[in-house]
Amino acid sequence: MNKEKMLVEAIRDGSVLDHIPSDRLFQIVSLLHLEELTTPITIGNNLQSTRHERKGIIKLADHFFSPEEIDKIALLAPEVHINVIRDYKVIEKRQVSLPIEVRGFVRCPNPKCITSAEPVTTYFHVSRAADGRGVLECHYCGRKTRAEEAELL
Ligand SMILES: [Zn+2]
Repeated sequence: MNKEKMLVEAIRDGSVLDHIPSDRLFQIVSLLHLEELTTPITIGNNLQSTRHERKGIIKLADHFFSPEEIDKIALLAPEVHINVIRDYKVIEKRQVSLPIEVRGFVRCPNPKCITSAEPVTTYFHVSRAADGRGVLECHYCGRKTRAEEAELL
């Protein structure tokens, strides 16, 4: 058994975020407010990876991600794989994918946008830039923002 597999299998029930680009690991930690969890968390960074030069991994016991959290992860790091662990076994393994649309958790950067002035839920259409990263286009004012520069609410 290789060391990476041991890391994944060391929790009984929970989730593992794998293949996180090292330069985005701590952004994901703060984005998901993992500092507020009281269940065991293991964070590793700058690990060897075949996919990237260096990768990060986050292992969360007794935590399962909501669809909204998965969309947030996908916006920031579409390379991430999520493994769901039940009774020490990986029961689901998948790469996150960019959502088609995003409602409510990203701020429109345009100060003249109706979502800045009125209590309107933000709404963006998501497309993919040439480099594979997400681009958010505001449904109301058309302002485009790169996903990694988006301000989260
Ligand atoms: Zn807007």
